[in-house]
Amino acid sequence: MKKAKQENFIVFFDFDNTITTIDVIDDMLERFSGDDKWKDLEEKWRREEIGSRECLKGQVESIKVGRERLDSYLSTVKIDPYFKKLLGFFGSRKIPVLIVSDNFDYMLNGILERNGITGMEVYCNKVDIAGERFSPSFPYSNSDCGDCANCKKTHLLKKRKDGMKAVYIGDGKSDVCASKVSDLVFAKGYLKDLFKEEGLPHVAIDGLKDVYDYFERILA
Ligand SMILES: [Mg+2]
Repeated sequence: MKKAKQENFIVFFDFDNTITTIDVIDDMLERFSGDDKWKDLEEKWRREEIGSRECLKGQVESIKVGRERLDSYLSTVKIDPYFKKLLGFFGSRKIPVLIVSDNFDYMLNGILERNGITGMEVYCNKVDIAGERFSPSFPYSNSDCGDCANCKKTHLLKKRKDGMKAVYIGDGKSDVCASKVSDLVFAKGYLKDLFKEEGLPHVAIDGLKDVYDYFERILA
């Protein structure tokens, strides 16, 4: 890519396994789910028999943990150290940065806050926690598009104004639709394999350092 005009970019980050070093929901299900039903839902979702909304609803409803234990768990979740560096880099160049995630507000915001990150524009699912009971809701699902919990593509198309270049950074199945309409994709994991298999343009990454190095090179 040639040296680019920095003001053109708008950057979308996935959260789990992109900003965080693990998939937080999967890890929470392993730790806190009352039974193994979440594994069947995961399988059905992988086989595309159900959408991520139905999958996540059932899975999150199976979690049984109170706030105190949840909060101390959230304190242990690590984020990629280059995420903050990228926020500084993009911030100093007035490049807008958003998070689009299939995680839930309480966990996502809790992890960001514990890492000293506040005030970001975040689009994710919601959860009410009463005692040990989790009640998920999905304000950003889009039945016109598909069965995703949070329609990341809708956010991308709405936020990318004329002349902007959408940058997407992600790893998973829920990132596919949004990535396919983005202008520049940084991919790892499942997303990387899929883009490679389908011959779609992308920058393969192992972590956010690769994204940082890329932008430093083109915008320095
Ligand atoms: Mg992810």
